[in-house]
Amino acid sequence: MPQKRDYYEVLDLSKNATEADIKKAFRKKAMQHHPDRNPDDPEAASKFKEASESYEILANPEKRSAYDRFGFSGVESSFSNVNPGDFSSVMDIFNTIFQNDFSGDDFFSSLFGRRRTRRSSGPQNGSDLLMNYEISFEDAIYGVTKIIDVPIKKPCPDCGGIGTEKGTSPETCPECKGAGVVMVSQRTAFGIFSSQQTCRRCKGSGEIISKPCKTCKGTGDSDEHERIKLDIPPGVDSGFRLRVRGKGEKGRLGGPRGDLYFRLIVDSHPFYKRQGDNIIVELSIPYPIAVLGGDMIVPTLYGPEKVKIPKKTKEGNVLRLDRKGIQRKTQYGMNYGDFLIIVHYAIPDKLSETEKELLTQLKDTMPLPKKQEKLFQKLIEDSKKNKVKH
Ligand SMILES: [Zn+2]
Ligand SMILES: [Zn+2]
Repeated sequence: MPQKRDYYEVLDLSKNATEADIKKAFRKKAMQHHPDRNPDDPEAASKFKEASESYEILANPEKRSAYDRFGFSGVESSFSNVNPGDFSSVMDIFNTIFQNDFSGDDFFSSLFGRRRTRRSSGPQNGSDLLMNYEISFEDAIYGVTKIIDVPIKKPCPDCGGIGTEKGTSPETCPECKGAGVVMVSQRTAFGIFSSQQTCRRCKGSGEIISKPCKTCKGTGDSDEHERIKLDIPPGVDSGFRLRVRGKGEKGRLGGPRGDLYFRLIVDSHPFYKRQGDNIIVELSIPYPIAVLGGDMIVPTLYGPEKVKIPKKTKEGNVLRLDRKGIQRKTQYGMNYGDFLIIVHYAIPDKLSETEKELLTQLKDTMPLPKKQEKLFQKLIEDSKKNKVKH
């Protein structure tokens, strides 16, 4: 077995590469080593696989930090058990896990659109499917079990996907005689102009269905669903993928079904903002508490906490509650984020008469901060001298 190369080294990256650097480096390597572009290089497929594996780990912040700390033993790559010679399997994994990362990228969309080259006559594995799935902020924090209705992609059982009623078949469109397009002539001041247009009757297919299948109403698709139980563990974030084994597309000729992946999209929350495993909140406190110090009760995700506001807390100061952020199980044990409170001074919307009176007294007695007072006196003197010309 050849020595496995460091993931950063594979992509020519330094340890502090940004996400954008990683993506860019991978794009470059993938283009360079794609076997279709290197038909004479027997090493191309394994280099392509090596780059894909490095990208899988480094582009995922969790996997990257595990790799930084524990090396190869800290991470598991989806590519590790695939033989690079089986390039279509490498591409299948590639498509499943990176499609979203590179959608809209020209070169990569040509890779994703690549037709499968596997043409064995034996059983074939079904392909993996990826579904986006939205969950609430709370479900992502505390975990939840969901029963999901997943549409099964297969042709209508009654018409076999053609869309016509049993015993009938689609007819040639009488409007375009099956061509799908019609010539349209227009008389103008300069003569008659003809142009080609998509046939409206058959929408360009050249065929019409006069007796649609009753089961699928002519669409040809089955509307079968499959109920899938999805256990979402506590602490997940957007982009997290869950795999349900054996629930992907059906295999061919008795081959096993592929897997179904759910890619989670987590709703935002009006109070709690998430940053990695930390929770950040903005808290408005009354001015006297900021000056004199005091206690405030703050709702954390795991119950109310009494927070000590130190005296002379300034606008924008950050208070940290250690290990009161997101709790998440990792392969190394429980992981606890912190709870960060950004403090703001609250300006009251309404004042009672007493409050108004107290504040007025305070206003009249309260001096400017010493530093500013000194500076102000100097500046006032200066500005008197400069007053003349205007
Ligand atoms: Zn037509
Ligand atoms: Zn049908």
